[in-house]
Amino acid sequence: MVPGNMFQMKVGAGNIVRFWFDTWTGSSNLVSRYNRPFHLDVNKDDFVADKWQQGSWNWVWNRDVLGSRNEALLDSLINEINEIALNNSEDRWECSINHDGVFSVQSTGLLIDRNSIPSGTTSTSWFKFLPRKVNIFLWRLRLDALPVRWNLSAKDVDISSIVCPRCLNGIETHDHLFFGCEFAGALWHKLHVWLNCGMIAFTSWDTFIAWLEGVNLSTIDKKCTIATVVTTLWSIWRFRNGIVFNNVFCNRSSVFDAIRLLSFRWIKHRSHLVLNWNS
Ligand SMILES: [Zn+2]
Repeated sequence: MVPGNMFQMKVGAGNIVRFWFDTWTGSSNLVSRYNRPFHLDVNKDDFVADKWQQGSWNWVWNRDVLGSRNEALLDSLINEINEIALNNSEDRWECSINHDGVFSVQSTGLLIDRNSIPSGTTSTSWFKFLPRKVNIFLWRLRLDALPVRWNLSAKDVDISSIVCPRCLNGIETHDHLFFGCEFAGALWHKLHVWLNCGMIAFTSWDTFIAWLEGVNLSTIDKKCTIATVVTTLWSIWRFRNGIVFNNVFCNRSSVFDAIRLLSFRWIKHRSHLVLNWNS
């Protein structure tokens, strides 16, 4: 795994860097230094660009009145981020071990491969059937860089619980959330039965990575399978955020229906295949 402190984001357009969780200004991320405004923000998972609307910084707060202490913190936050101007260039990583200190998202993938994937396996893939935001999500997941409760706790973020918000029966690591949780397990089982094309039923992060690295992308069927698998991971993450940020619980059937619909739409629109629902 690549140590997180090797990286700092250099913001361009702001559509890859997450406002609260990535380190893009100062020496640490904003959630660790402005924890009170963070808790009041409805859209905690926003990218930087999402917060910059019509020439000013904008938030949606979950309370009408911030209070004087929070307003002072917010003023401090705005003063800090006003120093940074968004532009049309790509967001980039700055890395302490690189010669010039700067390289692109694509080359970061190569570094991830060198440091975290055993030799002989395939390179970090960018799946063309999936939107950019979903590929970025998968890339963050592989870096163990999603803000699950365990990761936030490890970064000393003040959170009320580290327990899985869905089952309340395990620490919310990415391994638990996406594979160990009984809710995720039920979704993987449904997907396994639905696809019926050699995909294993994932029970852990290791089984998933072993499958991902070994999967052959030479046929359309396999490309569709992997797109659907990654859509499932993405949907579990969105479902989890619905619970944490909006207290919205969905049953597994409705989540699974959403996975099928979403993967169908993404594959159909991006593959240019002539698909109908039955195919
Ligand atoms: Zn759970």
